[in-house]
Amino acid sequence: MERKNAWLSYNKKQKKELYSLCEDYRLFLSNGKTERECVDEAVKLAEKAGYRNLKEAVKAGRKLVLGDKVYENVMGKSLALFTIGTEPLENGMNILGAHVDSPRLDIKQNPLYEDTDLVLMDTHYYGGIKKYQWVALPLALHGVVVKKDGTVIKVRIGEDPKDPVLTISDLLPHLAANQMSKPAAKVVEGEDLNLLIGSEKVAEEKAEKGKDPKASVMKNVKEILEKTYGIEEEDFLSAELEVVPAGEARDLGLDRNMILGYGQDDRICAYTSLRAMLEVEAPKRTACCLLVDKEEIGSVGATGMHSRFFENAVAEIAALLGGCSDLIVRRALANSRMLSSDVSAGHDPNYPGVDEKKNAAYLGRGLVFNKFTGSRGKGGCNDASAEYLAYVRRVMDEAGIFWQTAELGKVDEGGGGTIAYIAGNYAMNVVDAGISILSMHAPWEIASKADIYEATKGYKAFLKAE
Ligand code: MN
Ligand code: MN
Repeated sequence: MERKNAWLSYNKKQKKELYSLCEDYRLFLSNGKTERECVDEAVKLAEKAGYRNLKEAVKAGRKLVLGDKVYENVMGKSLALFTIGTEPLENGMNILGAHVDSPRLDIKQNPLYEDTDLVLMDTHYYGGIKKYQWVALPLALHGVVVKKDGTVIKVRIGEDPKDPVLTISDLLPHLAANQMSKPAAKVVEGEDLNLLIGSEKVAEEKAEKGKDPKASVMKNVKEILEKTYGIEEEDFLSAELEVVPAGEARDLGLDRNMILGYGQDDRICAYTSLRAMLEVEAPKRTACCLLVDKEEIGSVGATGMHSRFFENAVAEIAALLGGCSDLIVRRALANSRMLSSDVSAGHDPNYPGVDEKKNAAYLGRGLVFNKFTGSRGKGGCNDASAEYLAYVRRVMDEAGIFWQTAELGKVDEGGGGTIAYIAGNYAMNVVDAGISILSMHAPWEIASKADIYEATKGYKAFLKAE
């Protein structure tokens, strides 16, 4: 049983729609390179579509009614959007859940040092990366520095064509005999991912007669940081700075039908889920879209899916709808249906050996449903029920969506997880449904535009389903 490629099915009008959607996505991806930037952009788009801040509604005690649109912004790093449906909340919601954090290098708290006339910054990687992929690339620095008085300085260096970029050096092949004989995990070590940021040596003070002045590169770098960005060295103690590949996402392929970009895991599902959410008006069941942080390190912390922020928001909504009890919140969650919108590994003709072909995901064949994630006998997976899979089959087929099913690699090849099992803890039906990509977790990841189009339509059909 083979699933069909979506490209053959499109007429002119559909292709036009597809390219316009994918250009919007390409810009979103180029602008949103941290969880904070993605949440900022999502809030902007949501407000334009009529969403209002839930915290303000709570503060004003403003009741919610059918069709109302609200969002909960969690520390600027996670976002939950809701559109109130006609049915009582306790009947459950239709939920899409994607994540907006991506693998990267974080700047350490005490990062700056000078070595042999060069100034570097120490990093500690975030999420599962192949460290050797992050050297000898143009890199950008994104994030925030928060001053002691609470002032937030937004940092974004390396994206404007006039900006300088930063990089991490690699060893020349001529001297790499020892390096190249190491296993790939050791070729570049985590502690050696040091970001090169300056090299101009300046005098620190006036020289005594007949002597060279005391000089350093650090003095110059510190002055630039202070003058250009208002950052003192100690301010790095309260900063979140992320090193990411510099430059825009690009159309990929001679036919321009793929996208090459940083952070498509999982901003590709975040954007398509958000787009679907913003296009749904007055649904029968309350619609919800979650864009969460920290998935790549286990969904931990206040802004990860394990946090209580989601059920807190549902409780606030229940209260503003006129009747909140613990029982209503529990029922609303347990009766919900969710698609955990996260990426799948696409079948890669360069590495066919890791897949079992019948149960692999293919670029261009549409939205990918994973009953199982996890590894080794599927430990850690959510394992959606057959009844629920039958339901989503029906919803997708009725809406004419191209979709496929897959597992992540062949048995015992490896594995992975998403936020599905965490939502499953509320006893709701949830299945993984995302877009397949190549080069997952690499600085530049690959996706098919047809899948972006199909996912957006599929997510919308799911949100509207009764
Ligand atoms: Mn993911
Ligand atoms: Mn991932």
